[in-house]
Amino acid sequence: VVIVENLHKSFGSNEVLTDIDLEVAANEVLCIIGPSGSGKSTLLRCLNRLETVTSGTLTVLGYDLGHSRTDMNAVRKRVGMVFQGFNVFPHLKVLENLALAPRKVSKISKRAARERAVELLRKVGLPDKADSYPRELSGGQQQRVAIARALAMQPQLMLFDEPTSALDPETIGEVLNVMKDLANEGMTMVIVTHEIGFAREVADRVVFMDEGKIVEQGDPKDVLEHPSHDRTKAFLSRIT
Ligand code: ATP
Ligand code: MG
Repeated sequence: VVIVENLHKSFGSNEVLTDIDLEVAANEVLCIIGPSGSGKSTLLRCLNRLETVTSGTLTVLGYDLGHSRTDMNAVRKRVGMVFQGFNVFPHLKVLENLALAPRKVSKISKRAARERAVELLRKVGLPDKADSYPRELSGGQQQRVAIARALAMQPQLMLFDEPTSALDPETIGEVLNVMKDLANEGMTMVIVTHEIGFAREVADRVVFMDEGKIVEQGDPKDVLEHPSHDRTKAFLSRIT
């Protein structure tokens, strides 16, 4: 689903990603961990070309992202992204948030978009919030709306960038549970997270990044419980 080879990314003279090789298979859940500034968000943003890469090759869902003629709208339609902040439209009701992109981008009927939205709200545990405005919801509920909104485009790949790090502790679990359900349904996901317990339980593979490089990756148990690199050990002992 994702093939990254020899990826480098610089901002000016500052190289923030160095020689990244990464593959994500269909139905795989990959968690990326690492200290602040290690390049996790930048890597994720390269995957749907919110950032352009400096060199290397990047194939997502069969599309070559390095090619200037690649139809990025086609790629972005198939790749859902959820950020740390609550990136829902504040002036639209929850149901309208979910129906907007399917209506505009995929041109599905109003009725079909509504039905899909209602179904997704049930899936994320918010069946009664269709007519609420985002400001009327808790942070965890808003984040579940953001996930449902991404799912409304029926993506083949979901990217999450620290989706729970801005949440109150008591609402983190409800968002992680929605993500866990998605994983169990076979959604292919790349998740940047500091939730080590979640990564251990849900990830098929964990990648540890530091200073723009992949330091190690592998089975969650190996990487998280028996890391082979000192930098991974130091990071894990700081955050757990
Ligand atoms: P955090 O855990 O704090 O979110 P991160 O691992 O996601 O950190 P990135 O946001 O990818 O780290 O940043 C990696 C490096 O790239 C940092 O040194 C950052 O200052 C730099 N950087 C990120 N975005 C830009 C930008 N648009 N312009 C210049 N430098 C940037
Ligand atoms: Mg980040």
